[in-house]
Amino acid sequence: MNPTTLYDGLTPVQADGLACVVCHRDFIAAPHPARPVGFSFETGSQVFACDGGCHALVTRTTPEGGSR
Ligand SMILES: [Zn+2]
Repeated sequence: MNPTTLYDGLTPVQADGLACVVCHRDFIAAPHPARPVGFSFETGSQVFACDGGCHALVTRTTPEGGSR
């Protein structure tokens, strides 16, 4: 993961880290393992993506493997 990635244009729940930044899954209403993927550009809060598909989508540009 790239901890310095900033996400712009997030919804309030995404910016609060309560929803996936990729698929908008509400982690409160639909609990799912999530991993930090960066920070909200607007609030500076840490934001998350679903472990698995969504996390892989936003971190696939990272050349260093080994996390799997
Ligand atoms: Zn997701």
